[in-house]
Amino acid sequence: MLKLLEYEAKEYFKKYGIPTPAGKMVTTPEAAREYTAELGKPVVIKVQLPVGGRGKAGGVKFADTPKEAAEAAQQLLSMTIKDLKVEKLYVEEKVDIVNEIYLGVTVDRNSKKHVILASSEGGMDIEEVAAETPERIIRHLVDPIDGLRSYHCYYIATRLGYSGRKMRQFGAFIAKLFELAVGMDAELTEINPLAEVEDGFLAADARLNVDNNSLFRHRELEEKLLDSYQGEFSGREMEAKEKDLTYVELDGDIGIIGNGAGLTMATLDTVMLQGGKAANFLDLGGGATSERISKAVKFVLSDERTKALFVNVLGGITRCDHTAQGIVAARKELGSEKPIVVRLMGTKEEEGRAILKENGIDTLDTMEEGAKMAVRLAGGN
Ligand code: GDP
Ligand code: MN
Repeated sequence: MLKLLEYEAKEYFKKYGIPTPAGKMVTTPEAAREYTAELGKPVVIKVQLPVGGRGKAGGVKFADTPKEAAEAAQQLLSMTIKDLKVEKLYVEEKVDIVNEIYLGVTVDRNSKKHVILASSEGGMDIEEVAAETPERIIRHLVDPIDGLRSYHCYYIATRLGYSGRKMRQFGAFIAKLFELAVGMDAELTEINPLAEVEDGFLAADARLNVDNNSLFRHRELEEKLLDSYQGEFSGREMEAKEKDLTYVELDGDIGIIGNGAGLTMATLDTVMLQGGKAANFLDLGGGATSERISKAVKFVLSDERTKALFVNVLGGITRCDHTAQGIVAARKELGSEKPIVVRLMGTKEEEGRAILKENGIDTLDTMEEGAKMAVRLAGGN
């Protein structure tokens, strides 16, 4: 799940016409001072980190003048919250809040529908409200056929106690947030607090968590996902992600390639049972072409810790002859002498084995035999 920071989420909020206070992301006290002067109003300054509860952790400060804003920014930029160093701040005009509301859209897994959550008890302690007085949170399931109609939105607004103009404004607000949730493939979008002000409503905070599996529809967010992986994955794992390979590094010396998560894990287990240690494993996934297999084999062989490679493929949509061609092509291109052990079974098995044999690569009949051989060739026992 890709969690956008508040200032990033607010860019999408604006795109979808959701009213937000004027604001700007800054990284220095000087920039905080300048923007506050430009606004000519008191401001709120908030740390931008991918964690909740900033307010309670001291990551939200108010400032009335540009000078105070610079001081507050200076303090915030020296903070570390939940082990994360503060590097970005959002400076936003401070609004006069009449009431703090909670509004969110998420997906209800049981009913497989979007659910709209609303409460007039917004602010920092919505979790407490949910735990202690769940009846104060209104839940509206959106029928996927019927969709969200304006009368649904008005009804929710009414239940929060609004009537007349405020009801229409709040109803329109819900409709826009729902449009954003659907348009951005959000697993969760949330505003807490949604500020009720004298003449309407404003998103004072913003959360937008996007489903990773939808990123092909939101290419501009893909880079962010890769960035958010920094530190969590090794350099080679990052490289694999960029190459669209499912690859995990371990600390042994045998490279493992399988097709499908189940088979790949079973291969890993079998190698361990035979006394070996995997250097890594790579799951080809379904329906791999010879190009993809070649790319995968090259990637695993080029890990200098890989002493031997065990390829275990069950031919189905992925064909054994394509697998063989991919392995042979990869070895030729790399000019690698590292031993490769292959076990192939299924679609075009005979053809696959023949191709490998011609190129001096032996195939084994079972996963156990393959694993045993790989362990031996890696120089273990
Ligand atoms: P969070 O603690 O990470 O959720 O950060 P928020 O952005 O929600 O801010 C925390 C709290 O600061 C809110 O619940 C509000 O009470 C207060 N706050 C934030 N923005 C404003 C504002 O513009 N005006 C006022 N009066 N209070 C604000
Ligand atoms: Mn909040």
